[in-house]
Amino acid sequence: MGKKEGLKDRLRREYLKKRKSLSEKEVEDLSKRVRETFLNSFLFKDFSSFMLYYPIKNEVNLLPLLKVLLNSKKRVYMPKVLGDEIFPVRVIREEFVRGRFGIPEAEGELADKGEVELAFVPGIVFDRLGYRIGFGKGFYDRFLKDFKGLKVGVLYPFQLVEKLPCSPWDEPVDLLLLPNKILKGGGRNERGNDNPDGDLGRSCSRWDNLLHFGFKEEGKGRQNFVRGGKEGKG
Ligand code: ADP
Ligand code: MG
Repeated sequence: MGKKEGLKDRLRREYLKKRKSLSEKEVEDLSKRVRETFLNSFLFKDFSSFMLYYPIKNEVNLLPLLKVLLNSKKRVYMPKVLGDEIFPVRVIREEFVRGRFGIPEAEGELADKGEVELAFVPGIVFDRLGYRIGFGKGFYDRFLKDFKGLKVGVLYPFQLVEKLPCSPWDEPVDLLLLPNKILKGGGRNERGNDNPDGDLGRSCSRWDNLLHFGFKEEGKGRQNFVRGGKEGKG
């Protein structure tokens, strides 16, 4: 572990601290706006199965979506940690048991990853290509590696930075879901294994690949989405 590993650790600590300083009301208000942005988007309309996460340490709270999704005849999954891996568990009722790390988990059989069409991905800090820093154990990197569905990072505005150090095993998310805004991530680590500890001095990927979805920063209005390179109405 050289000094570059230290950079990720430092960012992790710094952004955890920022998130910790949010008031309960800020977490509630911002989380509500994130949920509304999701519910007003094609993500809710066009997808039929979702993996949520149980919010800890002031993470954006998507849990109220559970009822909404179940009532809308969508399939819902929650992550369960076994060994070094995350597995989706189908949620039928809103009931949780204490899992590893004390994080509540759904009870039930492990489902196939392939059943999940969209996975919400929490994180401590994200960059504009969708790279993220998590708690430092790489759980989501391993989960996302062979995940074929849509990867949606969930974050507060202050958790978005221009550029993060990234490692060869880091998996970027496809989209970034924020209060009132959805951004395109989908960066690819094109550097191979030359820089395993990450380095801000090098680009993780193509910065010109950034596409903004047509959400307005504030307020309402018609939402245009860019999907598969073509523009369509939301
Ligand atoms: P996080 O993404 O949680 O911030 P890191 O990206 O720093 O954490 O990863 C933490 C550790 O997890 C790394 O040291 C790495 O060895 C391990 N890791 C992550 N993804 C994989 C993977 N796909 N295969 C093997 N090890 C992995
Ligand atoms: Mg990682």
